[in-house]
Parts: sequence; structure tokens; C-alpha cells
Amino acid sequence: MLRAVKFILIAAVFLVLAWWIGGLPGNVTAQSGGYTVETSVPAAILVLFLIALLLTVLLRVLGGLRAAPGGLSAWRGGRRQKLGEVAIQRGLVALAAGDATGAWAEAGRAHKLLGDTPLVLLLTAEAARLSGKTEQAQAAFKQLSQQEEMGFLGHRGLLRHQLEQGDHAAAQAHAQAAESAYPGSAWVRGKRLELALRQQDWRAALGLTRVPAEVAALATAAARTSTDKHQALAYAKQAVKADGTLAPAVVALAQALTDADKLRAAKKTLAAGWAAAPNPLIAQAYLAPLTAPIERAQAAGDLAAEKPGDAESELVLAQTSLQAALPAEARRHAQAAIAAGATDARAADVLAALEGNPPTGGAKPAWVCAACHTPQADWAPICPACHKPGTLAWHTGAPAA
Ligand SMILES: [Zn+2]
Repeated sequence: MLRAVKFILIAAVFLVLAWWIGGLPGNVTAQSGGYTVETSVPAAILVLFLIALLLTVLLRVLGGLRAAPGGLSAWRGGRRQKLGEVAIQRGLVALAAGDATGAWAEAGRAHKLLGDTPLVLLLTAEAARLSGKTEQAQAAFKQLSQQEEMGFLGHRGLLRHQLEQGDHAAAQAHAQAAESAYPGSAWVRGKRLELALRQQDWRAALGLTRVPAEVAALATAAARTSTDKHQALAYAKQAVKADGTLAPAVVALAQALTDADKLRAAKKTLAAGWAAAPNPLIAQAYLAPLTAPIERAQAAGDLAAEKPGDAESELVLAQTSLQAALPAEARRHAQAAIAAGATDARAADVLAALEGNPPTGGAKPAWVCAACHTPQADWAPICPACHKPGTLAWHTGAPAA
């Protein structure tokens, strides 16, 4: 409604103006050199109006052109920014391709164009690391760690370096800083676990994993090294709960129970462990309190009854029978062990001893790392070869060729 009124009013003003101009009397004469233009006053006003309109439009267009890029310096700045971004992108690609020289060159270019921006610092640090320029990498990571948004990446770089250098105290500080910069990061947790393992801080390591095999191994180690009886028992229970088939965990629990004067519970634990997964470590612990060979052979019978017919059950019977001077029993159980699938040298060694021959020198069972496949004679919470926790598993028989 208001619009319509406004339009009618403007139209009326123009109409009156036009009518007034149209009614103006007289002529206008313009002279330039030999040319003379003569026209009526209304026509001259119309021409002047058109010229003014044209000039206005022209000025607008020219002004627009100048204002658009915001002046020459801004245009140059935008170009620097763009070139800098291109350098960063190329540098990141070079990093991913493992091209240390290319990444380092692009990092230098990006730094010249953009200065110490977080992305430039990150590229510089990673390129320096890849090129083996440790000091430059450290300096860039340190600068990056002071940035608010990307501080985590700085601490991450420094933590990685300190771990490589074996500087555990410094690594610990950066691990904490990284954790507070990005709480709950799986990467940081992995590195803190690695750090705790290197320091053999089993309790700290235990708090950083929920993988059952790792929990079982680390809790066993914590139980073994704990000086407090109650704590040792708690850790051993945690280990067996995480993996009831891990013989060192079963033995650690039996030991902790024995230390707490719970001898019956200790024996029951070993028997249950044998039923779950027979292992010579369990037999050794089970028979340890007994010294007389005949008693040991009888106790072995009790233990073997937990898993009758198993190769390990037959083996422990064969070995204890041999020591108790029961050759017929020893031979029968050694042959039963071979029939049950024992392929390592232990059964053959019992048979050789019965014939008065030396050990066969055949394959021995071993703890083999699931990650790097390195065999170890003794169990350890972390693989001595690749340092991974909870990877050692009991393997009997000849290793596959
Ligand atoms: Zn390994």
C-alpha cells in the first residue's frame, strides 16, 4: 500500500516536471568550430540528463574495478598467501612420498611466504625430521607446542623424539602435555604405554590397556614384582581373570596364594590352570613342594587327571615316572604322549634315557612371539625382541619349516 502511494507520488512529480520542461519556451544554440547545433530547450535538457546518467554509470564501473581487489598491496598479499598454501600442499605431498629434500625445500618456501604459521611449523618440523635435521625438527616442534590450536602436534613430535632418544623423563612430560592438549587420544595412550613398558612400570602400563592378553601379561609382571602381599594377590587374580590359559599368570596366582598361607587354594588354582591349558610351568609349581621322586610321580598323576589323555599330561607322567625309577610306566606314558601329538623332543628324550642314550637334541618347546615370531626359552611380559606386551605364547613341537 505504502509502496503504491510512493510510486504514484514519484510518477506525478516526473509528469509535472516533464510537462513543465516540455512547455519551456525558446531555443538553445551550441557552436563548436564550423558546427552549429540548434535545438529546443526541452530537447537540450533531455540530452544533458542523458549525458549525466552516462557519466554516473561510467564512474560507478571505474570505481568498482578499483575497489574489487582491495588495492594492489592486498592483491599481492593474497597472492603470497596462495603461493604459501601451494608450497605447504606440495611439502605435505613430498612428506607422504618420503621425499625429504623436496619437503624441506617446500617448507623453506612456505616459511618465506607465510612466516611461522602453525602449518608451516608442522611442515618444517616433519621435513627436518625426515631429513635427519634433528635440531631444526626439535626447534620447530617446540615452537609448535606453544601454539594454542596445534600444540598437541608439537608435543607429539617432541614425545616421539624423546622416546627414540630414550629420554624417559622428558618423554613423560610431553606425554602429559599431549594428554591434556587432547584428552583421550589413542595415539598418546599407546605412547604412554610404550613409555611405561620401557621403564618396566608394570602398574602404569596396566592402567593404559584393556586388551586381555596385555592385561594378563602386565598384571602377571606386576604381581611378580610387587612387594606387598595383598597387591601381588590382587594383580595375580586380575591376570588370571584376563587370561586363565596363561601359565605364568596361573603360577603367579598360586604363588601369591601360597605367600598368603592359602595352600589349598594355591593347589586348586594350579589344577584349574592345568585343566584350562596344561603347561610345564604349572607342573613345576605343582610338584615343587615335593622332593621324593615317588611322591612327585603320584602328584603328577593327580595333576594329569585334570586333563587326561593330553600330550602334556602324558609327558609329565612319563618324566616323573622316569625319575621315580618306574621304566614301564615311563615308556607307556612317553608313547602315549607321542600318540597324543607331542612332536617336540621331550617324549623321545624319555625313551632315549630308558635305553641309556643321551638326549636326542630335537626341537624344544618355546615361548613364541605372536608379533615377531621370535622364540624365547622363558616367558616375559614383553617380547624381548620387539618389545610388544603380552605376545609370548607357548608353542610345543617342531617349528614349521
Ligand atoms: Zn616379538
